[in-house]
Amino acid sequence: MKKSILIVGGSIAGLSAALLFASAKNDELDFDITVIDDSKPDINAVAVYNVPLFPKAINGQEILEKTRKQISDFLKVNYVNDTVVEIGGEKGAFTTKTKEKEFKSDYIILATGASKFDIQGLGDIVTEHKLMNKPNKICLKHSKRQLVKDGIYVAGTAAGITSMIACAMGSGTEAACAILSDIKGAITIVHDTPSSRK
Ligand SMILES: Cc1cc2nc3c(=O)[nH]c(=O)nc-3n(C[C@H](O)[C@H](O)[C@H](O)COP(=O)(O)OP(=O)(O)OC[C@H]3O[C@@H](n4cnc5c(N)ncnc54)[C@H](O)[C@@H]3O)c2cc1C
Repeated sequence: MKKSILIVGGSIAGLSAALLFASAKNDELDFDITVIDDSKPDINAVAVYNVPLFPKAINGQEILEKTRKQISDFLKVNYVNDTVVEIGGEKGAFTTKTKEKEFKSDYIILATGASKFDIQGLGDIVTEHKLMNKPNKICLKHSKRQLVKDGIYVAGTAAGITSMIACAMGSGTEAACAILSDIKGAITIVHDTPSSRK
């Protein structure tokens, strides 16, 4: 079985989700992953001193580059530099329009950050972000497991989480695990041991 996943926002939340899917690929389940990003991540402003296992003062761009490299060890992801303007369709048959092109997917993750959300087609889902100490920050309405509507999940600061990289990573991972669970129809996690992979 092959599932197509479209991720809007290629910063740390979106890439954490992509990494989880990539690592979950096996003989029974494969993925087509597209990450669309218009290159305005908050993480570009960061030098990090407070994320476990990250080297002292690693900067945002380096974090994203290293994460992309880690993903590429499992799976080739289609990275698109563009702005998503509209989403339509339903689970299993979404259509995502950018300024330049159109993409089909089974599932969507919105990892669009807390600064803006001007994607048409999803109704009135924008609300105030209550955990950021800057004005005009937004997040997206969702129910449990970060579900915006059937087949569409939100991740990262767009999900209203505390604006910390470690929180955004966990949120991206959670959105991906929620989708994996939906695909398999049972709670699904991806756990390895030192001997579980060749
Ligand atoms: C100055 C500053 C310093 C910080 N320092 C720290 C720190 O020391 N430690 C720490 O843990 N955290 C820090 N943070 C917070 C950290 O940067 C955020 O928690 C993290 O970047 C959130 O990641 P994210 O993936 O949710 O969103 P973002 O990094 O904001 O990425 C969202 C992405 O979505 C894209 N996007 C949005 N809409 C669209 C669209 N329609 N089409 C295509 N792409 C779209 C944007 O261009 C962007 O690339 C800092 C933040 C700032 C601003």
